[in-house]
Amino acid sequence: MNGTMMEQPLTISSLIAHAARYHGATEIVSVESNGETVITNWREVEANARRLASALERLGVQKGDRCGTIAWNNRRHLEIYFGVAGAGMVCHTINPRLFPEQLIYIINHAQDQVLFLDRMFVPAAAKLRAHLQSVKHFVYMGPRDAEVAAELDGVLFYDELLAAEPDSYQWPELDERMPSSLCYTSGTTGNPKGVQYSHRSTVLHSIGGNQPDGLALSAKDTVLAVVPMFHANAWGTPYVAAGVGCKFVLPGPRLDGESLVRLIDTHRVTIALGVPTIWMMLLGALEKTGSKAESLKRTVVGGSALPTSMIPKFRDLYGVDLIHAWGMTETSPLGTLNQLLQKHDSLSDAEKGKLREGQGRPPYGVELRLVDDAGNRLPEDGKTQGNLQIRGHWIVDSYFNAGKSALTEDGWFDTGDVATIDADGYMIIRDRSKDIIKSGGEWISTVELEDIAISHPKIANAAAIAARHPKWDERPVVIAVRASGQDVSREDILAHYQGKVASWQVPDEVIFVEELPLGATGKVLKNKLREQYGEVLLKG
Ligand code: ADP
Repeated sequence: MNGTMMEQPLTISSLIAHAARYHGATEIVSVESNGETVITNWREVEANARRLASALERLGVQKGDRCGTIAWNNRRHLEIYFGVAGAGMVCHTINPRLFPEQLIYIINHAQDQVLFLDRMFVPAAAKLRAHLQSVKHFVYMGPRDAEVAAELDGVLFYDELLAAEPDSYQWPELDERMPSSLCYTSGTTGNPKGVQYSHRSTVLHSIGGNQPDGLALSAKDTVLAVVPMFHANAWGTPYVAAGVGCKFVLPGPRLDGESLVRLIDTHRVTIALGVPTIWMMLLGALEKTGSKAESLKRTVVGGSALPTSMIPKFRDLYGVDLIHAWGMTETSPLGTLNQLLQKHDSLSDAEKGKLREGQGRPPYGVELRLVDDAGNRLPEDGKTQGNLQIRGHWIVDSYFNAGKSALTEDGWFDTGDVATIDADGYMIIRDRSKDIIKSGGEWISTVELEDIAISHPKIANAAAIAARHPKWDERPVVIAVRASGQDVSREDILAHYQGKVASWQVPDEVIFVEELPLGATGKVLKNKLREQYGEVLLKG
């Protein structure tokens, strides 16, 4: 016998329909490709999403078909998120910073039928076109433009497609288990793999990840999504923002510190989300411009380890609370967020600060565990390091078209991260299993070594890697970028490690570089650094 309550499918169209009905006039601020700022609102975004859905059906796109986007965070991209998924098609966000061969691989693997393009990606699409087997329609995300038409033969114009549609399209009833969006992992090891989210997983992620101890976005907030819409669905913020009806700021292509400071101050942003490198740039820009970022209360930081020295800087200089979060494309992505518990009220500020450095605890909807290489459970004592595994309502089961489960026999997903978990469930990422340094049978965390280097006032950024060693197999080497105009030596940095880690964990070498190689989502490419510097300890 079932319960006797209404059953409505958990669909993405229900999120945008809610935003239009109850928060219709709330503003969406969009920085366009040409630098212009356009202000729209949830009502208009929903109306355009319905027009787009209707236009796609008219073009013959079928339910379940993938529609790719190569675009920055802007209003049309937001409309595509909801229009494509709302119509029962799959919104496939593609990272424009990938190499051409990777773009070709991903678009062909996804069998994208339609490709939506921002202005600056039109030339690349024209070049790749001969290799793209499945794409039937290229759609330029803007009004008719003679130059674009000349560059890409047969291109359609987004604004014209929408203008031809009546406002009468109704969202179809969909099964909540249908696919809604698709994201590929960056493929640092081997070919990229697709993660195909469902309506149900997306809605549950939006609700579960937005609890008061999670993202906690509300209708009172103005949210700046710095994290790109092609990076794990901008961490779900478009869906969460629609569900709560907050003001939403989409920053377009320019993500340098000064552009972000201007957006924060002009639109009174209360919460922003992005990877640590973005917040490092923002700190520099705040200092340079003299802005106090008065409206900004919180930032959510994740994607790679948060340098601990950033937390007190933001708190003490600007009154901004940094919330450390962890996740992956395979986890939608919210896996953990760091907030304190009631029992921590009586702790000192320093003790509270220490607890908040880690990646935090899982919200309702996901569960974590640690196992050894043989799959045995390890204790959650805050000390024992193990392979981090996860399961829950918004965690991948199998990769797109892989034909087999990506899970362990007992139904958990192995994250490839090495972590500790304490008795309260607070998780700390110690490393990625492929980055960790194995020195004479002992493990050294690159995350910890980097954090110490970055805490040196004359260092702007740093990465630690495993370098091959004749005696110990691997030893740590730090690759560091000096802060602008600062003179600091190898010996200064090595001295900075004294007393902070065990003596056998102190790096063997420090190499200064002008900049660190960053990957498509703004993370340091340690495999590149290993290729370049992995043998420095073998020579001489
Ligand atoms: P990739 O970096 O492989 O392209 P993802 O963006 O899905 O793909 O990255 C997921 C990985 O990023 C995690 O497995 C973890 O190693 C790392 N990561 C994410 N958030 C954090 C964090 N807060 N601290 C440390 N590492 C993190």
